[in-house]
Amino acid sequence: MKKILITGAAGFLGSHLCDRFINEGFHVIGMDNLITGDLKNIEHLFPLENFEFYHHDVSTFVHVPGELHYILHFASPASPIDYLKIPIQTLKVGSLGTHNLLGLAKAKKARILIASTSEVYGDPLVHPQAESYYGNVNTIGPRGVYDEAKRFQESITMAYHRFHGLETRIVRIFNTYGPRMRLNDGRVIPAFMGQALRGQDLTVFGDGSQTRSFCYVDDQVEGIYRLLFSAYSNPVNIGNPNEISIKDFAEEIIKLTGTKQKIIYEELPIDDPMQRQPDISLAKKLLNWEPKVGREEGMKKTFDYFKGLTEEELYKSEHKDFSKHIKR
Ligand code: UDP
Repeated sequence: MKKILITGAAGFLGSHLCDRFINEGFHVIGMDNLITGDLKNIEHLFPLENFEFYHHDVSTFVHVPGELHYILHFASPASPIDYLKIPIQTLKVGSLGTHNLLGLAKAKKARILIASTSEVYGDPLVHPQAESYYGNVNTIGPRGVYDEAKRFQESITMAYHRFHGLETRIVRIFNTYGPRMRLNDGRVIPAFMGQALRGQDLTVFGDGSQTRSFCYVDDQVEGIYRLLFSAYSNPVNIGNPNEISIKDFAEEIIKLTGTKQKIIYEELPIDDPMQRQPDISLAKKLLNWEPKVGREEGMKKTFDYFKGLTEEELYKSEHKDFSKHIKR
């Protein structure tokens, strides 16, 4: 049985990856320091013999006994609110954490896939974003801690690949959504759905003309799975190219949820990218992959998940307009 280590296992993407690799017959070792992850996302895996969980921070030395064939490094805060609350940890997990895991991969002769992000493109001046675009990132802005950690992560991964001959893969993940997103992480989908469920107005930042392209989690996991087993070591975009403005998206959410509330406008956070859409030509050619789940279907499934949360969870995790704390 092949063994795989998944860091960030209790997080949104990490937990879905644990499910997928368990279903594919792997022995899965989940690791998480639980700063932003939640054990609830993986508690259904605890009774399984081929699942183990280590409560550990990968920014410190990582030890895994015995053989290991694959590593997926998905540990990192991943929302602008989190970067503001825990900037140092965000930098450390992308840099020191990645270094530790590359060292582990080298010692175990394991193949490692690193979760990178569309944030390496910053506020892009090229549209849509292909892997060949070098990006437009503000190193010292509030998102810099994430963006630069991820850019460093790509560099050190390629260095291990070139210098040590390590088998490496890099996925650049564009906005992804689905069940198990954290309700209070401040991201637009949990924010709007939480607001609809609590009977609050939907907060659109800026004039809502900025765009995003949302990928359903099952499509994202399929792309990552195929990339891991491909022979390609340069970065690959995985995302859904179906682009929408945040204002139009808010209107879609109002329709979907049936909320009687309206849209209110708040200040646009600093360095909020104005447009984002993946060019997925490379993934299509290389992995024979493209997203299958449309926004309507995906958002419905996601809303069903949020509707299933308890009242306590819904209110305990209310997102308190953190954007006002963003200093210009
Ligand atoms: N956004 C918004 N209202 C919210 C939360 C986010 O209008 O309550 C906007 C945000 O300014 C950004 C977009 O939605 O333009 C996506 O934000 P998110 O934090 O989900 O992810 P990002 O792609 O910016 O990392």
